[in-house]
Amino acid sequence: MNKAAENKVARFAAITIFPEMFAALTDAGISRKALEAGLWSLSCWNPRDFADNPSRSVDDRPYGGGPGMVMQAEPLMRAIEAGTNSLLNAGAAKSRVIYLSPQGRMLDHAKVMALVGELSTGQGLVLLCGRYEGVDERLIELAVDEEISLGDFVLSGGELVAMALMDALIRQLPGALGDTASVTEDSFVAGLLDCPHYTRPEIFQGKKTPEVLLSGDHGKIRRWRLKMSLARTRKRRPDILRDRALSAEETQLMAEILAEESQEQCGEH
Ligand code: SAM
Repeated sequence: MNKAAENKVARFAAITIFPEMFAALTDAGISRKALEAGLWSLSCWNPRDFADNPSRSVDDRPYGGGPGMVMQAEPLMRAIEAGTNSLLNAGAAKSRVIYLSPQGRMLDHAKVMALVGELSTGQGLVLLCGRYEGVDERLIELAVDEEISLGDFVLSGGELVAMALMDALIRQLPGALGDTASVTEDSFVAGLLDCPHYTRPEIFQGKKTPEVLLSGDHGKIRRWRLKMSLARTRKRRPDILRDRALSAEETQLMAEILAEESQEQCGEH
């Protein structure tokens, strides 16, 4: 592969004691197809392979006492170094270490797109998956560039988070989706939630598909979808609408939504 083509591959190295979990990403769906098409690569580095004890244990009791175990810095550091070297040897221009942590910056669409931008410059990502009570703080200070969280809740390990992050990144890679439009119409891309979708049959348990979607009038369909997106976002996620400027058409549609809402409220009284 020449340098330009090498740089187009999104390169990941996962630091994990459960490498088999990543089969969910490599063996199914869009991510599998994208892997087969050579759009991304993954190598897993098990800290147990870098432990210097016969039982290959990589955790120990926390200093100061308390429940649970803590992942030790030494084997994690060695695994991160091996993962980083593998990315560079495979052609990554540089690499960064992300620790998946509930204490990190919450993942959102803007962050996904920023990371896609990094990957497209040939930067590889080392994804550190914690287990137990987490990892020794000194390892974070010495080796981690950024911490990313999936949300304000605690999972048993970072693997599912690493996979969620990778899946979000992979579907943005050029060529990963058959229909590139589907990525641009997803929720959050234009700062709105996606519109509702319908498919056959036309009537399901007495519920009809909205007439406009059967009309074949593409202008009307586009306008209806935009209106539904606006109405949904206003109702479910007013926070993302607050910081978003509306186009002239969106302002008009929003006025219609508000008028319809107040009519409905009058009807209720
Ligand atoms: N004691 C840690 C805390 O309260 O911050 C949680 C440890 S958790 C049981 C084990 C590992 O799961 C973490 O080291 C992290 O890698 C991962 N993890 C759990 N929840 C996460 C989240 N919301 N986002 C990202 N990673 C998470």
